[in-house]
Amino acid sequence: MTATVPGTSPARTPAEAAFTPSANIVELRESATIAVSARARALRAAGRTILDLGAGEPDFDTPRFIRAAAERAIDSGATHYTATEGILSLREAIAAEANDRYRGSDPITPADVVVSNGSKQSLFNACFALFGAGDEVLIPTPSWTSYYEMVGLARATAVPVFGTRARGLKVTAAELAASATPRTRGLILNSPCNPTGSVYTAAELREILSLAATRGWWVLSDEIYIRIVYGAPAASALDLVHTRDRLIVINGVAKAYAMTGWRIGWAIAPRAVAAAMTALQSHTTSNASSISQHATVAALQERDAAEAAIAHMVGHFRARRDAATALLDAAEIPHVRPDGAFYLYVDAGGDGAAFATRLLDRYGVAVVPGAAFYTPDWVRVSYAAPIESVVEGVTRLVEVRRGA
Ligand code: GLU
Repeated sequence: MTATVPGTSPARTPAEAAFTPSANIVELRESATIAVSARARALRAAGRTILDLGAGEPDFDTPRFIRAAAERAIDSGATHYTATEGILSLREAIAAEANDRYRGSDPITPADVVVSNGSKQSLFNACFALFGAGDEVLIPTPSWTSYYEMVGLARATAVPVFGTRARGLKVTAAELAASATPRTRGLILNSPCNPTGSVYTAAELREILSLAATRGWWVLSDEIYIRIVYGAPAASALDLVHTRDRLIVINGVAKAYAMTGWRIGWAIAPRAVAAAMTALQSHTTSNASSISQHATVAALQERDAAEAAIAHMVGHFRARRDAATALLDAAEIPHVRPDGAFYLYVDAGGDGAAFATRLLDRYGVAVVPGAAFYTPDWVRVSYAAPIESVVEGVTRLVEVRRGA
């Protein structure tokens, strides 16, 4: 997808002609993951039946106990501004959960935590606070579309480092080292990975983290899918570093707790970085929704209910993954076998954008073209949809792929 910001395409009206994008956004590409969902919605509104395997969000309702906590927050008047970095009880809950679950690094305190409007804002804050003109940031590729754009918005240069098929498109420390220059300032990790579903082993991550430590790079570890895995628990960078001096871990409730619309993400960062991110956020959005913050306290503290809800959803994701990969295996269509998240990355056998367009226009199935993830010969299928839709959608994808 190569959509540009409004105004950079040929102007049609005087108002469009009058708009020249600033240097800040002239290179910006619209989010293709969001654009595909918007297109699927528009086609539905126009009366077409669409199987949406583009959306990167759980199709489940937010668990009842979390919704109840939000209602209580509204009724008790928790409807005002909060501290920019988030209410203390939430930052305490985030720190406690991370300290309980990951014991490798130095203890996390509430002062190390910044709560934002979704982990997307946490990532943006981190990129903007840490990177600038002349810096290069290594991005294992394919990776989520917004990393590249956020690095660009910080006026730094995103450097894609391509993974190999034999390793499920994951990269090694040696491959990252080979792409580094004296300007390299950081690295963005994402395991489980969007768009491939690949999960880095603890050993693989340890090697990468140790390279970063030796070189003095900042590491942004986006762990938003860490609870959605189909084998052993996924390793967190928090378990593998000796010190968190140059580590920012990003997480949130959107995916594991089916809370995409609530917009709550967070960063766990060294205190000085957390303070800088808070200052930045104080001039952009201020605090995340007060009600969503209170709901998130319940999500993190009512652990039995939360674990049951997560296990329920992951069970469904696993069944869908198995059904979808069985269809691709039977048709011998190359793909990355996902061990986590809810994405399936499929080799389109040529131009992924043309493939996705054919699949949507002729067969009514929405998927995201791999160009969004800097690998244009692939497409991403999200199986965060009812199993019947996943099976029907992948069956149609197989038909298109066979005719491709
Ligand atoms: N992260 C999800 C995706 O990749 C949600 C959409 C977005 O924010 O990009 O589809």
